[in-house]
Amino acid sequence: MSDSTALKAKLGLDIFKPGGEPHIKIKPGMEKDPRLQQAINICPAGLYSTADKGGVVLNIDGCLECGTCRIACGTDVLEWSYPEGGTGVQFRFG
Ligand code: SF4
Repeated sequence: MSDSTALKAKLGLDIFKPGGEPHIKIKPGMEKDPRLQQAINICPAGLYSTADKGGVVLNIDGCLECGTCRIACGTDVLEWSYPEGGTGVQFRFG
């Protein structure tokens, strides 16, 4: 099993309980900020991607709450908080 496949298998064991509002958002108007490109490369869950019309989009489903995107991109471009209590990721392995 490759490292990538093993990681995906482990992540697949986690449970995600959806909350109300997304706990991380790209600030309005900042979708094309170059700092967000880093999130595409570093988010371990692969939740950031390039939009069809350019810029970056975030699909928060499956967020590991690791904070990597917050550190890499900064709070000028991201609104970042933890999810409400009882929601979000439940780690099941490792
Ligand atoms: S907190 Fe971690 S898993 Fe969640 S979006 Fe940011 S980098 Fe990805």
